Amino acid sequence: MSTPAQLINGFRRFRELHFANDAERFQELVQFGQTPKALVVACCDSRVDPALVLDCAPGDLFVIRNVANLVPPAENLGHYHGTSAALEFGVCNLAVPHIIVLGHAQCGGIHALLEGGVAKESSFIAEWMKIAEAARKQTEQGFEGAGDKLRHRACEQQAILISLNNLMTFSWIRERVEQGKLTLHGWYFDIEGGELLGYNTATRQFETL
Ligand SMILES: [Zn+2]
Repeated sequence: MSTPAQLINGFRRFRELHFANDAERFQELVQFGQTPKALVVACCDSRVDPALVLDCAPGDLFVIRNVANLVPPAENLGHYHGTSAALEFGVCNLAVPHIIVLGHAQCGGIHALLEGGVAKESSFIAEWMKIAEAARKQTEQGFEGAGDKLRHRACEQQAILISLNNLMTFSWIRERVEQGKLTLHGWYFDIEGGELLGYNTATRQFETL
C-alpha cells in the first residue's frame, strides 16, 4: 500500500474512532472555537509530535513546529515571520495561559548546528539555526572534548533557554508574564530514555517532571 493510501485509511479510522465517538467534543470545538490549554513550540521531527507525546486531544494544544523548536527574537526585519505570527495569535487572540518550548534528544537541527551538517551557508536551515548560535558557542566552550551525545544534549537544552529568553523580547508576552497571566516552560523530551524533563529556574537544571 502506498503512503497516501495509508494516510487516507488513517483518516477513515480517525473519523470512526474519534470523530464519531467524540462527536460532542468536536461539535463544541466547531461551535465555540478553540481555547487551547497551552501553546507548544516543538520541532518538525516526525518522532516528537506534541499531541501524541503529551497525550492530548484536539483543541488542547496550539502547536507551532519548526526546525529545532526555536523562537526567534522579536524583530521587524525581513517580511515573513511564521513563528512570531503564530505566537502572536496564540498569545493575543487565544490568550493561552502557558507556553512550552519542547526540545528533544537527537535533534537534527542541533546536530547540523554543532557538526556543520548544513550544506550551504546561504541555506534556509543555516540562517534559521543562527538563532541558537550562542548555544553552540557555550557547548563548544563548556563541553570541549566531551562525547557527541553529551554535547548534543547540552546544546539542545541550551537552545531551549535561548528560546525562552527570546519569548520575553515580545512585548505582549513579557507584559502577560509580568502580570501573571502567562507562564513560560522549557521542556525536553528524551526520546532515548522515554523521559520528559523540565527546566527548573531555581536549580538551573533540567529535571524529570
Ligand atoms: Zn529537532
